[in-house]
Amino acid sequence: MTTLELSNVVKDYPVRGRTLRALDGVNLRVLRGDFLCVVGASGSGKSTLLSLVAGLDLPTAGTITLDGEPVTGPGPDRGLVFQSGSLYPWRTVERNVAFGLELLPIDRSERDRRVDWYLAETGLDGFRRSLPRQLSGGQQQRVAIARALACEPEVLLLDEPFGSLDVQTKEDMQVLIRQVWKDTGTTVLMVTHDVEEAVFLGTRVVVLACDPGRVAAEIPVDLPDERDLALKRTPEFHSLRASIEDLVREQHRRTGMWER
Ligand code: ADP
Ligand code: MG
Repeated sequence: MTTLELSNVVKDYPVRGRTLRALDGVNLRVLRGDFLCVVGASGSGKSTLLSLVAGLDLPTAGTITLDGEPVTGPGPDRGLVFQSGSLYPWRTVERNVAFGLELLPIDRSERDRRVDWYLAETGLDGFRRSLPRQLSGGQQQRVAIARALACEPEVLLLDEPFGSLDVQTKEDMQVLIRQVWKDTGTTVLMVTHDVEEAVFLGTRVVVLACDPGRVAAEIPVDLPDERDLALKRTPEFHSLRASIEDLVREQHRRTGMWER
C-alpha cells in the first residue's frame, strides 16, 4: 500500500535573480514498510526532496501526499533526522527523546513508556541523564533517531544521518537502524550519497540524476532480508553496489560539469 507519493514534483530556488531548478518532475511512491534509499551525487536535490516531504518547504509545482492527504507543513506523522547537530543541548537524553511527545495528546504514562522503549531500542539506557555534549557523535545520532521514532511517525525521514561518523560507528549505526526498522515496522525514506549504505539498508534504491534532479532509475534490492555486515563482502552485494555506483557516476557526468 502506498503511503507517501510524490507526483511531478518541481522545486525552483531563486538564486541571484535567476531560477535554479533543483528538482524537475520527481515521481516517487513509498510503500508502507519500505526502506527506500535515494542516492545521488552532491547537489542532485536529495536534501531538497526530503525537506519537501518533511513539509519544511513547499514544491513549486506537483503534489506530495501522505496516506492520500496533501503535505502542507511539518507534522508528527513524519520524523526527521539530519546529519548532526539537531539535539537540544540543554536537555538530557531522555528529555530530548520526550520532546516531540510533549506536543502530542498522550498521557504521562504513555510518554514515559515510549521514552523507555525507544531508549532501550537504540541502546541508550545508560545515558538517560547525559547531556548531548557528553556523548559521542554516534550516540548523539541514536538520540536523534530515538526522538524521531518516539512519535511513531508514519514515515521516518533520514538525511545522510551517518554522514559525519567514522566508518566503524557508521556501520554500527547501519545495523542498528536496520534492526529498528524490522522491530518497529516503520516506513523509512533515507537519502544518502553513499551507495554502499543504500544497498545495505534499502529494500529499493532510487538514483537521482543531477541538474536538475529527477529520478534516473529505481532498483529493487534483491538481497536476503537478514542483513549483517558480512553481506557487504559477498559477490551479490559487490555487483549490485557497482552497478548503482556506475549509474550515479553516469548521471553526474551527464550534467556537463566537466565542460563548464
Ligand atoms: P543534495 O542534498 O543532493 O546535495 P540539495 O538538495 O542540497 O542537494 O541541493 C540541490 C540544488 O539546489 C543545489 O544546486 C543547491 O545549490 C540548490 N539549493 C539547495 N537549497 C537551496 C536554497 N535554499 N537556496 C538556493 N539554492 C538551493
Ligand atoms: Mg544534502
